[in-house]
Amino acid sequence: MSDPRPETTDPPAPSDAAGRPTPRTAPGPLLAGRRGLVVGVANERSIAWGIARHAAEHGAQIALTFQGEALERRVRPLAERVASPIVEPLDVTRPEQIDALFARIAEEWGALDFLVHSIAFADRDDLSGRTIDTSRAGFLKALEISAYSLIVLARAAEPLMSAGGSVIAMTYLGSVKAVPNYNVMGIAKAALEATVRYLALDLGEKGVRVNAISAGPIKTLAAAGVSGLRGMLGQAAGRSPLKRNVSTDDVGTAGLYLLSDLSAGVTGEIHYVDAGFNITAW
Ligand code: NAD
Repeated sequence: MSDPRPETTDPPAPSDAAGRPTPRTAPGPLLAGRRGLVVGVANERSIAWGIARHAAEHGAQIALTFQGEALERRVRPLAERVASPIVEPLDVTRPEQIDALFARIAEEWGALDFLVHSIAFADRDDLSGRTIDTSRAGFLKALEISAYSLIVLARAAEPLMSAGGSVIAMTYLGSVKAVPNYNVMGIAKAALEATVRYLALDLGEKGVRVNAISAGPIKTLAAAGVSGLRGMLGQAAGRSPLKRNVSTDDVGTAGLYLLSDLSAGVTGEIHYVDAGFNITAW
């Protein structure tokens, strides 16, 4: 007699060529049960907020930080919107704040699945005019906050990522092309991108992946410090294959891919989210 039950419509569990199960990627939240630290939310326009929002929508719990009291007032209400259980002060030049933040994460969660580094800083004077005039102090400050901090945060995160994890940082085309006014920040981004590759090498055997997103120009607080931002936005929109600027949503969803198992085989990469601008030369 034939089986009266209707045929199941569930797709078979995914497996690799050897029949080993592989992560099921759809449907359902991509980051369910994952816990991540997002550093760099200043306000609603921040790229970090675009990533935090999409990660939270996909089931992740998010720890947020704020740099100083003025930004705390902006960050707290955003933290409520994603129900962040951990909201701590963090200036990456202050080791005691880094220690306190990671002690809190260890106490509260005992583990960390992802880290988003979305911070950069250079003195305004160094973001116009000639790179040749960059002071030693300005150079060191830009490199410390914008590049070395990725090493510091990854080192603090490593013991919490014993089950593997994903680290992402934000960069810009000025690392590989000379972009007027971007100056010392271009040098810092080159260091940041090299740092991504070396950290990927260090952490790969632990199952921790390290990648960066190279975003097209977006009008944020940090970007406003670069002279000629308006021209960069106009040029990017006019010349990019997609004929538009990118948004924090575009970066947020690309971030979601890099934080999730969808990108399980990807590490040490610089992933451009710039409407294709970087491939053009005209
Ligand atoms: P943003 O101003 O919203 O974010 C910058 C963040 O850096 C702020 O939250 C600020 O508090 C933080 N920060 C600066 N100094 C710090 C310190 N000492 N300690 C801790 N935090 C510190 O601007 P954004 O554009 O969202 O910038 C985020 C990242 O994206 C940066 O790395 C930036 O270079 C990169 N990026 C931006 C663009 C763009 O056009 N906006 C393009 C490509 C890459």
